[in-house]
Amino acid sequence: MKEIEITCRLGKELSADEIQTAALKALGVSPKAKMQIKYRIVRRSIDARNDILYRYKVEVFRPDEVMPDYVLEEYKDVSSSEPVIIVGAGPAGMFAALRLLMRGFKPVILERGKDVHARKFDMARLSKEGDVNPDSNYCFGEGGAGTFSDGKLYTRSSKRGDIREVLHQLVRFGADPSILIDAHPHIGSDRLPVVVENIRKCIIEHGGEYHFDSRVTDIVKKGDGSFDVHVGASDVYSSRKVILATGHSARDIYEMFDRKGWELQAKGFAMGVRVEHPQSLINRIQYHGKYQPYMPTAEYSFVTQIEGRGVFSFCMCPGGILVPASTASGELVLNGMSNSQRNSKWANAGVVVQIEPEDFPEYAQHGPLALLHFQKDVERKMFEYTGSLKAPAQRMMDFCRRVPSSGLPQTSYHPGAANAPLHELLPEHVSLRLKYAFPEIGNKKMHGYYTNDALLLGVESRTSSPVRIPRDPETLEHTQVSGLYPCGEGAGYAGGIVSSALDGINCASRI
Ligand SMILES: Cc1cc2nc3c(=O)[nH]c(=O)nc-3n(C[C@H](O)[C@H](O)[C@H](O)COP(=O)(O)OP(=O)(O)OC[C@H]3O[C@@H](n4cnc5c(N)ncnc54)[C@H](O)[C@@H]3O)c2cc1C
Repeated sequence: MKEIEITCRLGKELSADEIQTAALKALGVSPKAKMQIKYRIVRRSIDARNDILYRYKVEVFRPDEVMPDYVLEEYKDVSSSEPVIIVGAGPAGMFAALRLLMRGFKPVILERGKDVHARKFDMARLSKEGDVNPDSNYCFGEGGAGTFSDGKLYTRSSKRGDIREVLHQLVRFGADPSILIDAHPHIGSDRLPVVVENIRKCIIEHGGEYHFDSRVTDIVKKGDGSFDVHVGASDVYSSRKVILATGHSARDIYEMFDRKGWELQAKGFAMGVRVEHPQSLINRIQYHGKYQPYMPTAEYSFVTQIEGRGVFSFCMCPGGILVPASTASGELVLNGMSNSQRNSKWANAGVVVQIEPEDFPEYAQHGPLALLHFQKDVERKMFEYTGSLKAPAQRMMDFCRRVPSSGLPQTSYHPGAANAPLHELLPEHVSLRLKYAFPEIGNKKMHGYYTNDALLLGVESRTSSPVRIPRDPETLEHTQVSGLYPCGEGAGYAGGIVSSALDGINCASRI
């Protein structure tokens, strides 16, 4: 096998003939030999540095070589196998369940929210009427926080496990196979619900269980080492092992741990604003004015350091919209999502500042929940400013100059934006660093980014968990409660769809 790289103009398909010619050259075989090679494309990325090109990585094989397939393990019938309770049906919970099926354990999934279709109605009510269902919203419900998202699958967490397993499983359940080769793969919120539903159907067909509207309120470790997991006021499920994959917004779970005296640790996270630009501007910046409609909607990402703290873009949604990601009434949180076509006229991204527990000593009295209380207070302050899910908003240059905006541009955020002094509403730790970051990005990295056509909306505060549920690095069990596996983003060991899925696989593998 030889890996070759081929470049190709955007808007043009790479042909089999082109690959054949390049492959023969790479293998040192004369084209006259008419040797029919085998090949597969393993990666496609866009190079927009000069001429805008697709860059393909292709594995080529001589006719006598075997081209190995990626083989996924089969799922077993687990109807009468030992149950393992999984709390939460997000990426971590779903992929833990799939791994349990492969290894012959019966996943019993307890999910506080509704199935992916019923969930859509609650999200529509949330956006249109401002009515927050605390169990069914953009963070809670089947598929977890990632279902109604951009479905970006790009991750740097290759050391956590086999990313290809996650991608191949997603394709098995209905995702477009292009995610297997794209350098920045994404699925889109119009396609993710089908994938999530197909995963559920597979788990149930093989003997696993799903229980919706099942908020876990207590976990009791019994004398024989097994667990009673309490749902609502009266239901109890039992098993020897429990995977806890409740995501970064399940504050009641952290509070339950705190009440029980089970170890938790304060953890840093990041907070800032959602920034919305016209997508046409981002296309112009990223493609140096050469954007054509057949090109993918442009993305961006950046990281910088201001006053000893990281400031970075987070969960950029090209051609996306802003959504209210609150999980309780009286709080305001924004996030972003896109459909598979990424075809709205806006580009949005979180631009956030790293926060460490020592940055806010006034919250130290809350022990490991210090930053959770801080996060809650900021979200409440944002809500109180408008008295609704309308987001306090300010134009970018006005924010940096500390002056009010006279009128706001249009926004994709359905509940609407209210003209507000965001520079004062945000904690100074965040506000001051953003003030310096935006002009720097505009001057040094993306000319045109720093503009008053960009709108900042507050607050982006659910970037990762502000609490860690510590676990043994080898067994992945909680440091004090054996048999309990804190898992995924809520435990503080993952961030994003793929890394949470990998963590789910790892916890299930340990079991
Ligand atoms: C709008 C939005 C867009 C996003 N876009 C992207 C993206 O494009 N790419 C990306 O990689 N990441 C994205 N993310 C982040 C990503 O969704 C998360 O990192 C990922 O879903 C975390 O997976 P998880 O399984 O650990 O937790 P979650 O997905 O949060 O799942 C936790 C599940 O547990 C359930 N639960 C919570 N408490 C209880 C309880 N007490 N009892 C029973 N069930 C409970 C919840 O209802 C939820 O379904 C986005 C997030 C949001 C909100």
